[in-house]
Amino acid sequence: MTKILLIAIAFAAVFWLLRNHRRRADRAAQPPPDAPAEDMVACAHCGVHLPRGESLISEARHFCSQEHEQEFRR
Ligand SMILES: [Zn+2]
Repeated sequence: MTKILLIAIAFAAVFWLLRNHRRRADRAAQPPPDAPAEDMVACAHCGVHLPRGESLISEARHFCSQEHEQEFRR
């Protein structure tokens, strides 16, 4: 019984070490995100997705460009 417990603990320790190592490797590989990911919005005219900050907002709708905003109004 003690043997089984020791084996289980050893497996848990190995698993924990591997997980920590992988996390550290992932963190080293990726640059830390400075800003949270920006919401994506769809153009009300053509449906293309773009970051909210780059979209034109008109009457609570998002557009990818001035042309699409004008075409949508027509
Ligand atoms: Zn568009």
